[in-house]
Amino acid sequence: LLLACLFPAFTSFSQEIKSSVENVESKVDSVLALMTLEEKVGQLVQYNGSWDLTGPASEGGNKEKEEKLRKGLVGSMLNVLSVEATTEAQKLVMENSRLKIPLMFGYDVIHGYKTIFPVPLAETASWDMEAAERSAEIAAMESAAEGVNWTFSPMIDVSRDARWGRIMEGSGEDPFLTSKVAVAKVKGYQGEDLSDPKTIAATAKHFAGYGFAEAGREYNTVHVGENELHNTILPPFKAAAAAGVATVMNSFNDLDGTPATASKMLQREILKGKWDFQGFVITDWGTISELVSHGLARDKKHASEIAIKAGSDMDMEGRAYEIALEELVKEGKVEEALIDDAVRRVLRVKFKMGLFEDPYRYSDPIAKKQLDYEQHLKEARDIAKKSIVLLKNEKALLPIKPSVKKIAVIGPLGDDKDSPIGNWRAQGESNSAVSLLEGVKNAVGKDVKVTYAKGAELGIGERSFMKPLKINNTDKSGFDEAIKKAKDADLVIMALGEDAYQTGEGRSRANIDLPGVQQDLLEAIYKVNKNVVLVLFNGRPLEITWASENVPAVVEAWLLGSESGNAIADVLLGKYNPSGKLPVSFPRAVGQEPLYYNQKNTGRPTNPVEVTYSGYNDVKKDALYPFGFGLSYTTFEYGDLELSSQEMDVNGEIVASINLTNTGKVAGKEVVQLYLRDPVASTTRPVKELKAFQLVEVQPGETKKVSFNITNEMLEFYNADKQWTSEEGTFRIMVGGNSKDLKKAEFNLNK
Ligand code: BGC
Repeated sequence: LLLACLFPAFTSFSQEIKSSVENVESKVDSVLALMTLEEKVGQLVQYNGSWDLTGPASEGGNKEKEEKLRKGLVGSMLNVLSVEATTEAQKLVMENSRLKIPLMFGYDVIHGYKTIFPVPLAETASWDMEAAERSAEIAAMESAAEGVNWTFSPMIDVSRDARWGRIMEGSGEDPFLTSKVAVAKVKGYQGEDLSDPKTIAATAKHFAGYGFAEAGREYNTVHVGENELHNTILPPFKAAAAAGVATVMNSFNDLDGTPATASKMLQREILKGKWDFQGFVITDWGTISELVSHGLARDKKHASEIAIKAGSDMDMEGRAYEIALEELVKEGKVEEALIDDAVRRVLRVKFKMGLFEDPYRYSDPIAKKQLDYEQHLKEARDIAKKSIVLLKNEKALLPIKPSVKKIAVIGPLGDDKDSPIGNWRAQGESNSAVSLLEGVKNAVGKDVKVTYAKGAELGIGERSFMKPLKINNTDKSGFDEAIKKAKDADLVIMALGEDAYQTGEGRSRANIDLPGVQQDLLEAIYKVNKNVVLVLFNGRPLEITWASENVPAVVEAWLLGSESGNAIADVLLGKYNPSGKLPVSFPRAVGQEPLYYNQKNTGRPTNPVEVTYSGYNDVKKDALYPFGFGLSYTTFEYGDLELSSQEMDVNGEIVASINLTNTGKVAGKEVVQLYLRDPVASTTRPVKELKAFQLVEVQPGETKKVSFNITNEMLEFYNADKQWTSEEGTFRIMVGGNSKDLKKAEFNLNK
C-alpha cells in the first residue's frame, strides 16, 4: 500500500500483472470446461515425431499418431525437425480437431541450434553469465525460426563423477554455479515474455538426482540422503523455478527407492508445493513405462496410476497415459481432479506462449532469413574463447612467440571438424566446426609453416549419436609420420581427447584416460620434441596426470562448438588472454571419483581444517586441478581479505573486500571466487561452498578493490530441523582465484 501511495504507477503495473495472471487462469478454465476426458488425456501425451509428416505415413505407428493429431488427442510432439513439418503437424490439429488446442514442439536445443556454442560444461568454465544467457537467446531465435518452441534445456544436474557421460551437459560439481547458469539459461531462452515468437519455453532437467548415478554408471540408482538432496541437488531447480522456467523434466533414476517419475515428494510436495511451480512436468523419455522395469509397476496402466498421482504431467513417448488414464478415471482409481490439474498446467504454459493467439508464431519464413548468422558465429567464437581453461604454462610456451616458424599440429582431433560440435548437437545446417588446424592456419602469418599428422585414429567405425566409435583402437601405424613432423617443428600442438560422442547420454566410462593409443602418441612425440602444447578436447575431466607432470603447456579446450578452432587459436596466439576456470575437479586417478571440492570433513582432525582427511594411500588426496582453477597469461596477486565488520546481524549485511593486482605484463580477466564455511552447525557442513563470484578485468600494474555483500541468504542451508535457514555463530569466509588458494577471515552471525 505504501508503495502504491508513493508510486501510483506501481499500482497500475502490479494490477496489470495480476490481471494478466487472472486472465490466463480464466482462459485455462474456460478451455478446460469444454474438454472431454479423452481430450484432457490427449493434452498429457507427447509423441516423438522424427518422421516426415508431409510424406506418406507408411508405417502404422505414424498413421495412428496422425489420426490422434487430427482428433486433438496429442498435447505436444518432440523431434519434429523442420518448419514445414511442424506447420504440417500443427495444421492437422488446427484444421481438424474439435477444440483446436495448439501443439508444443519440443527439441533438445542444448548448446545452440544452427550456431553451435560450447557444450554446457565448457561454457560454464567461462563463469560468464551474460554469455550463458546470450547463447541461449541466440539458440532460441534460431530454433524458433525452425518451428521449435520448447527446448529440453538447461540440464542442471549437479554432478561430481567424471565417469558419468552426461557431465558434459551440465554445469559441473557446484550447486551455486549451476544455479547461476540455470537462471541465465532460463532468461536467455524465455526472454521477458514467453509469447514473444523469438523465445522458446525452457525445461529444467532432470528432476532429480540423475547426476548422482552410482559410480557414474548411466541410468543407475541414486543413493542420497535428505541433506544432500536439499543442499546440493535441489538448489539449481529451485532457482530455475523462481526464474519462471516453463517446464521441468523428471528423471530416469531411482532415488532412494522411488524412481523420480513416481516421486510425490519431489514433484508434488517440493516442486509444486513448497516452490509453487505453476508450469508442468514432462517425463523423461518413456519414464512412466520404465516404472515397470524398475519393478514398481505391474504394467503400463499401473505405472500411469503411480505417475499421475506423483505429479508427472506429460508422458514423453511412453505410450502409457494414452492407453491407461481414461480407464483409470472411469474405474475410480484416479480422480479426474488430478487429470484436470495436469491439463491446467499444460494449457497455462500454452496460453503464456501465445500459442492460442498464433499457433504458427514461429513459421514466418522471413524471420529465419532476418537472423544474423554471421553475428551469431562471432558471438560463438567469443563465448568459446572465454570457455578455454589454461591448466599449465611452463617454459612460457604460450602465447606462441613470433620466433616460432614451424608448428606441427598432431593428433586425431587436430583436423576434426565434427567432434568440437559435441554431443546433443541440434540439427542445424552448419554442423561442422572450424578445426584446430584450420584455426591455427587462419591465425598465423604467411611466414609460419603449419604441418599436420593425425598420428592415430580415435576409434573404429563410423560415428553417430546412436553408434559411438569403438575406442579399443591399437593401431600405431601413424606414429612415424607424426614423429617426423614433430622433430621438424619449433613447436608441437597436440590435439587429443574424446570425440563428439564419447561423452553424453549413455557414454559413461570406467576409465577416463585418453582413449585408444593417444597416451602412447603423446609420449612418443614428447620424446622427440619437448616443446609440446597439449590441447584437450573433452566433455568430462580426463585423467591427465602424466601430461600435467611432463608436458610444459596444457590447454583445456573442451568441445567448443562451431568456432572451436578459431577460438583456440585466439588463445594459443595470445589474441585472447585465457580467463576460464574449471567448473569441475580434475582427478589424479579415476579411483578418486567422485571428486569435488565442497566435501565434508571426516571426524579425523586435519590441519588446515578446510582440507578433508580422507583419501587413498597410493595417490595424493587432492585434485590434480581443483574446482575454480585456471591460469592466465598474466599473474594476479590477492591482498588481505577485509570485512566491514566482524559482526553481522541476521537482517543486515557486511562487506568483504580484497585488493586484486595484476602483477604481470598484459591485461587479464580474473574470476574472483568467494567461499563460505559454517564450521559448527546442526548438520555437518562442507569444508567450503562457493557463494559468490565476480569477473574482474585488471590492467597490468593496476589494483582493483573487489567487494562482495555478505547476506543472510548466503548462509542458509537445509538444517537438522528440515528448515532452510541460517544458524548463528562463527563463519569462515574465503576469497581467491580457485577453490584451493584462498585468503581467509571470520565473522559472527547474530540472530
Ligand atoms: C534424455 C533427455 C532428453 C530426451 C529427449 C532423453 O533420453 O534423457 O535429456 O531431453 O531424451 O530427447
